[in-house]
Amino acid sequence: MVNNLKNINKKTIQDININKKRILLRTDYNVPLDTNGNISDDIRIRESLPTLQYLIENECKIYICSHLGRPNGKIIKKLSLKPVCKRLSELLNKPINLLNMHNEITDTDTDTINMLENVRFNKEEEENNPNFARKLSNIADIFVNDAFGTAHRAHASTTGVTKFIPSVAGLLFSKEIKILNSLLDKPEKPFTAIIGGAKVSDKIGVLDNLINIAQNIIIGGGMAYTFIKAEKLILKNIDIADNEIKHAKYLIEKSKELNITINLPKDVIVTKEFQENAKFRNVASNNIKTNELIMDIGDESILKFKDILNNSKTILWNGPMGVFEWKNFSNGTYQLANHLSNLKNVTTVIGGGSTAEVFGKLNLENYISHISTGGGATLEFLEGKILPGYASLLNN
Ligand code: AMP
Repeated sequence: MVNNLKNINKKTIQDININKKRILLRTDYNVPLDTNGNISDDIRIRESLPTLQYLIENECKIYICSHLGRPNGKIIKKLSLKPVCKRLSELLNKPINLLNMHNEITDTDTDTINMLENVRFNKEEEENNPNFARKLSNIADIFVNDAFGTAHRAHASTTGVTKFIPSVAGLLFSKEIKILNSLLDKPEKPFTAIIGGAKVSDKIGVLDNLINIAQNIIIGGGMAYTFIKAEKLILKNIDIADNEIKHAKYLIEKSKELNITINLPKDVIVTKEFQENAKFRNVASNNIKTNELIMDIGDESILKFKDILNNSKTILWNGPMGVFEWKNFSNGTYQLANHLSNLKNVTTVIGGGSTAEVFGKLNLENYISHISTGGGATLEFLEGKILPGYASLLNN
């Protein structure tokens, strides 16, 4: 499975008449909050502005709906959308009315933008309860889904409402689909995919699809364990699920058949404890001691990976090369991020999640062709899966 055509060719807000209509707009404002409850990265809010501006220009009455965190159907004060409402209001330079319960909604000024409180405060949301979806859809004439980051979830406010009112994609959603689709469908060659991070089980499925598309695959982060062990280099001590090792072995074999290069780090930074200030050393991957943990890629690997990137025309990156949150183990990730940002005439796509956070932290967001606002949704799209939040919209 390389590409799933069910993910493309849907109507957007530009394909229907939305003038002066009441719009239920699903956004993904699931933003990271710091310990004081302040938004630490507002990219998801900023990326929703083009759709909002388009709706405002068309004199729509807007009801924004989003979730934040995992309140599991309960009202949790610190997961209120209040800070999001405030930030969006600053960015739009317009007042926004935060509404506690959608069934309290009465007619408001056309000029006022409304935001429903965290939709996951209602347990019916994640159950995709049809009565709850109907209630939500009663607010509006048209549903606009701009929540790409939540498109892999079939919830009341992502797919449920589409059964009741005409439903189309917002501008961010359709931009994400277009760009990610172009990666799966005839990307300019050589195409290099960098895959790292911690959630190996989530990413191995992506590799199943990418192996049919990419010419080079670079493996780093926690993924490296699985592949290094599959290559029988070392790591007797690391407990990795047998099925993951088997899968990695299968991918290594398949890559040989397809003449694709899977590049593992030849050297790594290791420690004896998983700790920020742990003593570390740079060691060849086949010389790691049984009591050592991989924390980052090593100097030789960085050079080799940069060289591969220099010779690529399309680059997709999902998952950091090491525990980048800790200074001593951020070198591999930061060096590749800086390198990627300096490349010319290359399409560079960051597949959301913590890799997007890296580019935000380094202020490199403007040097990348596209930073996806999805994490899980991006991965599922790249796996070739149907995203229910997109499949349920009107066909074009
Ligand atoms: P993911 O969400 O799967 O992209 O994983 C991101 C997380 O992977 C980050 O928080 C990193 O600290 C973590 N990570 C990267 N490399 C390693 C590693 N070698 N061991 C443990 N965690 C890692």
